[in-house]
Amino acid sequence: MKAFEYWFGPYPFYEDSYKLVEVPYLGMEHQSSTTYGNGYQNGYLGRDLSGTGWGLKWDYIIIHESGHEWFANNITYKDMADMWIHEGFTMYSESLFVEYYYGKEAGAEYTKGIRMNISNTSPMIGDYDVNGSGADMYNKGNNMLHTLRQIVNDDEKWHAMLRGLNKEFYHQTVTTKQIEEYIASSLGLKLDAFFDQYLRDIRIPVFEYAIRDGKLSYHWTNCIPGFDMPVKVWIDGKEVILNPTRQTKSEKLETGKTTLTVDSNYYVYNFNTLGDK
Ligand SMILES: [Zn+2]
Repeated sequence: MKAFEYWFGPYPFYEDSYKLVEVPYLGMEHQSSTTYGNGYQNGYLGRDLSGTGWGLKWDYIIIHESGHEWFANNITYKDMADMWIHEGFTMYSESLFVEYYYGKEAGAEYTKGIRMNISNTSPMIGDYDVNGSGADMYNKGNNMLHTLRQIVNDDEKWHAMLRGLNKEFYHQTVTTKQIEEYIASSLGLKLDAFFDQYLRDIRIPVFEYAIRDGKLSYHWTNCIPGFDMPVKVWIDGKEVILNPTRQTKSEKLETGKTTLTVDSNYYVYNFNTLGDK
């Protein structure tokens, strides 16, 4: 509760109290009442979903279902197709819980660890008006939000947006569009292509690059038209923010620079077209 109130603002249901109710199944979120059947052990039935060790430091069901008090019970989807608003943010709340108690690097490791559970077979947003949900909204939702935080690169602004969401949409039912618009205006960014890519497409963008004769060439591929997400890289250890588009860009490098590493906090793939040296 301390961690979540820090990140998201006051617990939204003080007048209802908070209950943990033992049940014969694994668990479920309900407004002010988490049902619990995780066997009083850390992890998800004793397992770490991230494979990093951080998931074994806490009881998965207590943390995950409590995160839902802010995303699902406070901010609720109008249509089940937008379920990522519940599960993406709540899965992300797990990383923020880890960050609050074990540090920023630990939270990031947890997020990167759960990537192995993403299937990328259907988009996160499902079909509207048929009471069906999309796919991957848990682990991919977490990774999309973590990627967006890298673009923002301003933790205060990021934190204010998370708290602002819970204030703006306090006890409301919402659509993805409302959430997208609020995030973009709160962060002062244009994010249409970003959200279309990660919420409405199954492809994970590939940053293709080559360093030849002292010149770096790069572009995004495997992505929607107009995708132009900035990305942080290190060129021979020096941090640089690049602004790739689908059209190839080139720039001259300082003499002797030959290697490029993409920041692994971004949920993208990267490919050196000349092969790894
Ligand atoms: Zn959930």
